Formats: sequence, C-alpha cells, structure tokens
Amino acid sequence: MFSKKVVDGLAGSSMIRAMFEEGNRLRKQFGADNVFDFSIGNPEIEPPEPVLASLRSLVLSDAKGTHRYMPNAGLDEVRAKVAAWLSGRSSVPLDAGHVVMVCGAAAGLNIVLKALLNPDEEVVVLAPYFVEYLSYIGNAGGKPVVVKLKKDSFALDVDAVEAVLTPNTKAVILNSPNNPTGVILDRSGLEALSALLERKGREFGTEIYVISDEPYVSIVYDGVVVPNVMSIFRNAIVVNSFSKSLALPGERIGYISASSRIASVSTLMGALVSLNRTLGFVNAPALFQRVVAENLDVTVDTEFYKIRRDLLYNHLVSIGFSCVKPGGAFYLFPQSPIADDVAFAKNAVKYNLLVVPGSSFGCPGHFRLSYCVNLGTIERSLPAFTKLAAEYTCFAANHQEDL
Ligand code: PLP
Repeated sequence: MFSKKVVDGLAGSSMIRAMFEEGNRLRKQFGADNVFDFSIGNPEIEPPEPVLASLRSLVLSDAKGTHRYMPNAGLDEVRAKVAAWLSGRSSVPLDAGHVVMVCGAAAGLNIVLKALLNPDEEVVVLAPYFVEYLSYIGNAGGKPVVVKLKKDSFALDVDAVEAVLTPNTKAVILNSPNNPTGVILDRSGLEALSALLERKGREFGTEIYVISDEPYVSIVYDGVVVPNVMSIFRNAIVVNSFSKSLALPGERIGYISASSRIASVSTLMGALVSLNRTLGFVNAPALFQRVVAENLDVTVDTEFYKIRRDLLYNHLVSIGFSCVKPGGAFYLFPQSPIADDVAFAKNAVKYNLLVVPGSSFGCPGHFRLSYCVNLGTIERSLPAFTKLAAEYTCFAANHQEDL
C-alpha cells in the first residue's frame, strides 16, 4: 500500500533517533540532569550576537516586497556576496551565477546528487560517513560505493578509492571536518585524490565530481587550516550550511557553489536551480538569506566547543579509551572496547550514557559522542564513563584484529 522501499527503510531507520528517544525515556525516569545524552548533533550554543542583531533589524524593516517569491536560485545580491566570499578563499573566479541558496546542506546534497546522477551511477562515500548520504544517493537513483578511511587516523586512503573507480563513478563525497570523527583531511591526501580523479576521468572519458559537504568548515581548533577543496579539485561542488557555523539548524539555510572550472557549469547551475524548485524547496528562506549575507565572516565561538572537546577527550583517554583527537566539528569517535559497538552502546545506557554505535556511520567497533551539549552534562558524565570503562578490563588494543 505505501511505498515498500520507504516502509522497509523505516525498520532500519537511524540508531541516532532511537538513542534520542531512549534519552527522552531516561530523562522522564531520572531527571534531565542525570542523563548524559551525546547522541545528537543539535548545538546547545546560541547564534552569535551579530547574527541576532541582523535578524532583529531585518525583522523590524519596513522595506516592501521582502516576503515575496524570488528567483529559485535565491536573492541576487546574496548570491553575489557568497560568491565573492568563496572566491576570496579559493582564488577560483566565482560570481552569483555559481551560487544557489538552499535550505541547508541536506537540501543542497539532495539537489546536487539529483542533478548529477543517471540511474545506477555510483557515488563514492568514505566511511565513517554521515549516514544520510546513503538515503540522499538513493533518492537520486544512484548507488553508494563505500570506501574506508585509514584505520588509525581516518585519513584518505587514495589507493582504496582508486580500487573502486569505474566508468560508472560520478562523484566522491568529502566531509571535512568530519561527522562523526572530527578529522580534517590533509592537503597532500586531497591533492593525491584530485590527481587520481583527473587521471581516471581521462582514462574513462568521464568527469568525476567532488561534492564537498562542509557544514563544519569553520569549527576548527588549535589554529588548524582546513584545505580549500575548491582550490584543489577542478570539478568541485561545495555544499555548505549555516546550521553549525552560526548555530541556525532550525532555520534551514545554506548554499551550493559549483566551481567555474567545471565544463558546462552553466548547464549544471541551471539544473541545480530548477531542482531547488521541483524538489519542492522552491527557494531558501528569504529572511535568513539576508541574515547570513550580513554575517559571512562570523562563526560561533569555537572556544565553546574546544573546552568541551578537551574535557571529554582528555578524560576518555585517561581512562583507557583510544580516540583520534579531532581537529574540528563537535564529535569524538573513540574505539569501542569490544568489537560489538551496538552491545557497547546498549551497555552504556546502564550508566545513563547515550552514545551512537559506529555501525551507524559504516564503521563498527567505534562509537560517536556529540559534545555540543551543556558543559555541566559533560562534567557530570565523567564518573559514568569511568564506571563504564571499568567494566572492560581487556580494554582497547585487544579487539583491534576484529575491526
Ligand atoms: N552533512 C553533515 C556531515 C552533517 O553532520 C549534517 C547535519 O548534522 C548535514 C550535512 C545536514 O546539515 P543541515 O542542517 O545544513 O541540513
């Protein structure tokens, strides 16, 4: 009766959501202060003051016509500002015609994939990955091809990518800083990947695109610079949102920008604009297009996240967990002390700790902690992690061979 594909998909639907619901149950039973919910990436931080100031002044403006339909690509002046801003960072010439304003990265990714993919064309996804990529690729009629990042560092494994490239490969999705690991892909790996995609494209007589999903690009620590993907890849399509950088996930605002170096880029842009309409988004919210255009250089206080990262990371490592220290985003992705990460996450609930098994991100044997939460929650959670760790005497190294 209903769509079989969608109904079947519900059964396996996100463990992240399941944990979120478990959290609601525990909060009712034990009180909110005694539940340590690290399951979902919904930032606790408020938008920066300049963003709120823009919002207040735009809301009070008497300018006529501000709430009308507009071009599906977004407001021309906003697109031009975003293009100039991106061009300044990448040194790739871009104008308003290379930018489409969209309802967040989720919308942007769906639009890009739909614009690129013919039936059954393949998209390389690097594991661990943001799980929604698989659905988005499916929505566009494509096939995900999963390639693992390097085991200990979560760095790019260019040889492993090479092994899966075929004439059917249409795109590779990059996400750096990464959800769930927080790892930033380094320039040398990206340059090697770029050379590989150019070489394979020539060999197959195809174009292979890089879709760079960048919602965490400005949430970085310790002065690390995130390599600019558009400056490295000729066929770069950047998808970004202000959900995390300005703490506006409920407002649904972001953009797509395709490099001017892409052959027939104007046809691609036409497809993106048209899909913004036909997929039902129509255009990005008018008010928030204006807000973000006034705040392109603004970012949430990354110190807010760094304090949380350091507190949690240092504690976990001190009690025996093994974890790559993240350079950005607001996630930790430690190794589970037992190979069965789902069993581990279930066991953690005993201590009111809600974590998401790595299997949800295509990387069993790990678990994800989203630390964009109240500092008090993290502080109160530390003894619970200590008790949990104490259960695993064999800790860390022993299950390496199973991963
Ligand atoms: N991509 C990644 C890697 C994410 O973590 C998220 C949200 O958590 C999104 C895309 C979707 O973000 P948005 O709120 O902009 O749709």
